[in-house]
Amino acid sequence: MTSPIRIELYSDTQTRPTPAMRQAMADAPVADEQRGEDPTTNALCALVAERLGKPAAVLLPSGTMANQISAAVHCRPGDEIICDRTAHIYGSEAGGTAVLAGALIGPIDGDRGRFGPDDLERAIRRTTRYTPKSRVVVIEQTANLAGGTIWPLEQIEAVAAVAQRHGLVLHMDGARLFNAVVETGIGADRFAAPFDSVWIDLSKGLGCPVGAVLAGSEGFIQAAWQWKQRIGGAMRQSGIIAAAGVHALEHHIARLAGDHANAQALAAGLTGISGLVVEPVATNMVFFDVAGTGLDAAAFSDRLMARGVRVWAQGTTRLRAVTHLDVDRVMIDEAIGHIRAVAAGT
Ligand SMILES: *Cc1c(COP(=O)(O)O)cnc(C)c1O
Repeated sequence: MTSPIRIELYSDTQTRPTPAMRQAMADAPVADEQRGEDPTTNALCALVAERLGKPAAVLLPSGTMANQISAAVHCRPGDEIICDRTAHIYGSEAGGTAVLAGALIGPIDGDRGRFGPDDLERAIRRTTRYTPKSRVVVIEQTANLAGGTIWPLEQIEAVAAVAQRHGLVLHMDGARLFNAVVETGIGADRFAAPFDSVWIDLSKGLGCPVGAVLAGSEGFIQAAWQWKQRIGGAMRQSGIIAAAGVHALEHHIARLAGDHANAQALAAGLTGISGLVVEPVATNMVFFDVAGTGLDAAAFSDRLMARGVRVWAQGTTRLRAVTHLDVDRVMIDEAIGHIRAVAAGT
């Protein structure tokens, strides 16, 4: 029997809607979304489009669908999508780009999820009869499996310049774009500026139960809508979901700084525990390796789970702990104690 989870560090997807968010959802005016009539969904899309500096946006059930629809719009079968090897679109979407867009992935081995203009230059294929056509470059902000790392704006712009010189399309997986915005003080619209398509997740650190919003040009969003309809993503009274998104954009962005501070506190508390190697923290994620304890990641996380602390056994000996709005500093301090105890074999 597993004990109840008292400290949930598995992911920032585990948040529950706050009472104020639930109230906003309950009060939302609604109508038929797929006819374009849901006022709350329309308001959310307008708000996100404005924040990202794009002309149009569309609400989707998930970030995965946002990546997949974008790939399907941008690519023809046989085209290649270039991204970092750790990218969600490559390793965590059930091979969707091969199924829906008919596109293959050309992964780059970057530096903690980020690659440079020279890396991209080397990865872009010179088009011949033999090669797949390099079509899209994907940048993940923040880079999840790479450590929640931030792509610096200058690096984005340098990579974008190479992509544009070769006529490639730029797509941002902005699942946690606002974590980068809060940490750097750089506006979401500035990060998004070079991209043809960009989306944010509502159900990660922003604390909503469901949803993602994809933005781009009017023409891109029109094409995205056809794919949304095709694969069953069009909704009805989605204002219930959209209201949570509007609430989150108004109330849950600045507070991400607290998640980052908690992640730093967690990392500081874990550093120096015998047998652990803690990676640098950039935003709300703490990755640590437990090989030195003699346990593998699965055994380590099982023992933590027995103490009511849930983390993710991401690799063979690598674990991930994520801070979010349902985790406070007292829980962080308690989690450090449990992790120390498990590392010590007690
Ligand atoms: C979670 C995540 C996704 C997928 O979003 P869902 O809403 O869970 O489908 C895509 N990219 C990154 C970087 C993510 O962390």
